[in-house]
Amino acid sequence: MMRPIIVIHQARWVIPMNGWIISQGAVAVAGDRILAVGPAGEIRRRASDGELGQGEVRYYDHGQGAIMPALINTHTHLEFSGLRQAIPPQTNLPDWLQAAISRFHRLTPEEIDQGVRQGIAEMRRFGVVLAGEVSNTGRSLPLLQNSPLEFHYFYECLGFNLLSQGPLEDDFPFLNRMAGADVPLSAAAHSPYAVSAPLFQRISAWNRRWARPGSVHLAESREERDFLSQGDGSFRELLIRRGRWYEGYIPPGCSAAVYLDRLGFWNESVLAVHGVWLDPQEQEILARRGVWLALCPRSNLYTGVGLPDLPALQRAGIKLTLGTDSLASVPDLNLFQEIKVLQGHFPEIPLPDIFLMTIGNGAAALNRSHDFGSLTPGKKAALLFLPLSSGAPLWPALLEAGVQGRISWLTQTGKEFADGN
Ligand SMILES: [Zn+2]
Repeated sequence: MMRPIIVIHQARWVIPMNGWIISQGAVAVAGDRILAVGPAGEIRRRASDGELGQGEVRYYDHGQGAIMPALINTHTHLEFSGLRQAIPPQTNLPDWLQAAISRFHRLTPEEIDQGVRQGIAEMRRFGVVLAGEVSNTGRSLPLLQNSPLEFHYFYECLGFNLLSQGPLEDDFPFLNRMAGADVPLSAAAHSPYAVSAPLFQRISAWNRRWARPGSVHLAESREERDFLSQGDGSFRELLIRRGRWYEGYIPPGCSAAVYLDRLGFWNESVLAVHGVWLDPQEQEILARRGVWLALCPRSNLYTGVGLPDLPALQRAGIKLTLGTDSLASVPDLNLFQEIKVLQGHFPEIPLPDIFLMTIGNGAAALNRSHDFGSLTPGKKAALLFLPLSSGAPLWPALLEAGVQGRISWLTQTGKEFADGN
C-alpha cells in the first residue's frame, strides 16, 4: 500500500485570513485538504512526532513571501471572454449593453469556447480557485467541468415580457436537465429591466426548491433607476429594439431593491451584483435581508456607471464580495486589480478588509465556506504563494505582487505557475 504523503509548505509569512498572520509559518497538507496551520517549527515537530498522521513528509521552504488562500471571483461571464477589447469604454450602460449584445452575436461557437478556455486559464493564473459564472446559454458548463477551476453556475434567465406563472423549466428547459443533478447550479435573474415580476418569483421558487443561491444584477446604472420609476428611457428603447417590450407594462415606481423586496426575492443566499446606485433605503434592505453584494469596480468604470460607494455599503452592514465581471468590460480577469481600484478610490478602507471580501466572503457567498475562504484544517488546500521583498509593508506588497501576476500555486511537488491546465 502506498504511504500517504504529508506536504509541508513553509514561508516567511502565512496569512490564514481568519486569524493572526504567522511569521515563519507553515501549512501541512494531505491529499487535497489542509491538515494544520501554524508556526513552521511547531508544524515540523508535529509532523515528525506523527501527530499529523503516518506517511512520507515532504518539506518545502518557499522563503521570502507569503502563503495565502486562493481568491474567489464571485461574478464573471466567461462566455463573453471572446469580446476582450472589442468594445470601447462607454459613458452609459445601455450603450455598452447594446454594443456587447451585437458583438457577442457575431462570435462563432468556436470563438466563444476558445474565450471560455482562455478566461478559465487566466483566472487560475491570477490565483482564483472558485468563480461565480453567469451564463444564459449553458455553453461554458462542460468547459468548466473539465477544468481545474471550481465554479458555481448561475444559469441566467431573461424575459421582460415573459408573464407566465408556470414552472420555470417550461421556458428554460436547460434547468430541467439540471434539477437535482450534482452540479452547483442555480437559476439567476438578469436584472429588473430584463426580467418580469412573475419571472423573478419563478426563479426564486426554483432556487428555494433545490436549495440553491440566487443572483441578480442590481442598481448598476442610473438608467435602471429611471426605468423602474418611470418605465421609459434607454432601457425601454433597448427592450423595444430587442422585441422584449410589451404594452401594458406598469413600472413599480420605486427603487430596484424595494421592488425585489416586494417580490420576496431577497434572502441570505442571494448574490446581488454591482449596487452602484443603491440609495440608503436599499442599502438598509440588503443589510437586513442578509443579501450578498458582488462589487465589480473596474467594469463599472468601463461601462460608465460610476463606482459603488464602498464606505457607505460597509457602514450599512452589507456583506460584500468582489468579481471581475467579463472580459467585455475589463482588460483581464485579475481580481487583485479590482482590489487595487477599490483601495485607490477608498484609501480609508483597510486593505485587509478588501482582501477578506475577495476570499472569505466570496467563498461564503458561493456557499463553499466548507472548502475555501481561509487556511483552516479540513478545507481544500487551495494555496497561493506570492514573493515579497523583505521589509516592505505586508498588505501593499501582497497586492502589488498579485497585480503583477507574481503568483504560484502550491502543490505536492512544490510550487507551480498556473497555466490553467
Ligand atoms: Zn454581470
